[in-house]
Amino acid sequence: MSDIKQHTVCIIGGGMSGLFTGALLAKNGYKVTVLEKNHIIGGGLQSFRRGDVVFNTGMQACAGYISGMISYQVCKYLGVSNEIKLLATDSQKQEIIWLNNNKSICLPKGRDAYQTYLVQLFPHEENGIKELLDCVFRVGHTFDYLFLQPIQRYEENVPYAYMSADELVRKYIHDDNLVAILEYVGWTTGHCLKAMPALEFCMMLTLYILGSHRFVNGAKQLADALCNVIEQKGGIVENDTEICEVNGEDGNIDYVVATDGRRWESEIFVWACTPKILLTVCREQVFRKSMTQRIQEYINPFSVFVVFCHLKKEKFKFINSSVYIPKSSKHPNLPQSIVFVTTPRSESDQWAESMEIYIPANYEDLAPWIATHVGERGDEYEIFKERIALEAINTISVYYPELSDAILNINVASGLTIRDYYGNPNGSCYGQQGLYIPIKTKLKNLYMTGQAVQSQGLAGIATTSVLTSEIILGRTLIEEIAQA
Ligand SMILES: Cc1cc2nc3c(=O)[nH]c(=O)nc-3n(C[C@H](O)[C@H](O)[C@H](O)COP(=O)(O)OP(=O)(O)OC[C@H]3O[C@@H](n4cnc5c(N)ncnc54)[C@H](O)[C@@H]3O)c2cc1C
Repeated sequence: MSDIKQHTVCIIGGGMSGLFTGALLAKNGYKVTVLEKNHIIGGGLQSFRRGDVVFNTGMQACAGYISGMISYQVCKYLGVSNEIKLLATDSQKQEIIWLNNNKSICLPKGRDAYQTYLVQLFPHEENGIKELLDCVFRVGHTFDYLFLQPIQRYEENVPYAYMSADELVRKYIHDDNLVAILEYVGWTTGHCLKAMPALEFCMMLTLYILGSHRFVNGAKQLADALCNVIEQKGGIVENDTEICEVNGEDGNIDYVVATDGRRWESEIFVWACTPKILLTVCREQVFRKSMTQRIQEYINPFSVFVVFCHLKKEKFKFINSSVYIPKSSKHPNLPQSIVFVTTPRSESDQWAESMEIYIPANYEDLAPWIATHVGERGDEYEIFKERIALEAINTISVYYPELSDAILNINVASGLTIRDYYGNPNGSCYGQQGLYIPIKTKLKNLYMTGQAVQSQGLAGIATTSVLTSEIILGRTLIEEIAQA
C-alpha cells in the first residue's frame, strides 16, 4: 500500500471551501497541502476570544445542516459530525422580525408551521402564501446536491434566474406588510428583494424554513476538525502563507510562490479564494474572456459593519434566534434592517455574554479609508465606526431597553476588515458568490472551489467542495456521502 504514489494537490485558501475540498480529497487518498494567508484558518467562518468570551466573525446561522442534506452529510462522511457542537435555533421563533409599529413576528421552522403562522397573520393572503411556498419549495428542491440527489437539468427554472425575488413574491402576495416581512430573506445574500434573484430566494428560504443551527462556543471548531482530517491523512495546513504568484507554462501550473519567497510544487492546484485575486497573481489565461470580464466587473455591494459586544454577566437574556430590527439604509439595494444574534456558549444558556450586530453597508461609505490598511486608519475611522455602532445599539435599545446597560465594551469591524482579512473584493460579506464560475479552468491542473462557484454559507460551500473533489477524482462522491 505504502508503495503507491499519492497524487499531490495544493489548495490555496484555508477558508471552509479549501478545508472541505482538502478533507474530501485527503479522505480519498490525495496528499493535500492547504496554504492560508492568515494566522488562523477558517476564512469567513471563524471565531475569536477576548478573555473567555467567544465571538463569531461570520456565519452566525448555518442553514440546512440537517440529516439528508449536504453539509450535515459531508461532515458525517468525513467523520467530524460528532465533534462539532451546534445548537438548533428556536423552532418556534427561528427569526424574530420587529416591525415599525413595535410588534414582532416570530417565524417558526418547518413548511407547515411557517405557512400556518403566516396565514394566521394574513388570512386574506391564504392562497397566495400557499402558492408562494409551493413555488419556493419546488424550485428550492431543484438544487439537487443540497438534497444529495444526482444533478438534473431544470429548464423550467430559467425564468427564476432572471426574475427578482420581489417580482416572485408580488406574483402571489398583495399585502405590502407581508412583502416587507419577507424582506428578511435578502440578508442571506445581502440584498433587498428587488436586487435578489428569485432562484436564490427560493433556495435560501427553503433552507432556512427547513431549519438553521448555530455553533456553540465558536465556529472555528469546524475548521479545526477539517484540518485534523487533512493532517491525519498526512496532509499539511500552512498558515501565514499568502500566495502572490501562480506560475506555469504550456497550459499547466508548475508552482505557486508565497510573499515570503517560499514555493510549492504540486500535480494539482485548487484555488479556494476569490477568483478576482487569481486574475492578479496568475499570468496565464485562466478563464474564457467573457468569464474573466464577469469576474472583473462583478460587484456585490453588500458589506457590513460588525459590532462585537461583550455583555455584562446576567444582564441580557440569550436569544436563540436571529433578530431583525427595522432601520432604513440610504442604499436602496441593501436590506433595510440590522440584525443581531447572541452567541451560544452552551446548549442551555440563559444569559448572553456576547452579541454580534450586523449593519448593512455599502463599500463606498468607507471611501476615505479605502487606500489604508489595518492599524493605520487613524482616529477618524475609529470615531466613524463607533458612531455607526452606537446608532445601532440605540436602535436595538428601542426594542430591547436592557441592552444599553448590558454592554461592557465593543469592538467594531468594517468592510475594510473583511477585505483585508479574507480578500473579499469591496469588503463584501459573501465574496463573489453566485458567479457560477467553472470548476475546471483553461489550465489543465488548476481547479476552482469556493463561494464563487455556487453559493455562500455552509450548504453552498459543502456543495461546491463536493463538486470540485468529484471533478478532480474523476468520479461521483454524492452517493457515498448520502449513505455515510
Ligand atoms: C460578516 C460575515 C457574516 C456572514 N454570515 C453568514 C451567515 O450567517 N450564514 C452563512 O451561511 N454565511 C455567512 N457568511 C458567509 C460565509 O462566511 C462564507 O460564504 C464562507 O465562509 C465562504 O467560504 P470560502 O472558503 O468560499 O471563502 P473564504 O471564507 O473567504 O475563504 C478564503 C480564504 O482564502 C484566504 N486567502 C485569500 N487570499 C489568499 C492568498 N493570496 N493566499 C492564501 N490564502 C488566501 C483567506 O484568508 C480565506 O481564509 C458571512 C460572511 C461574513 C464575512
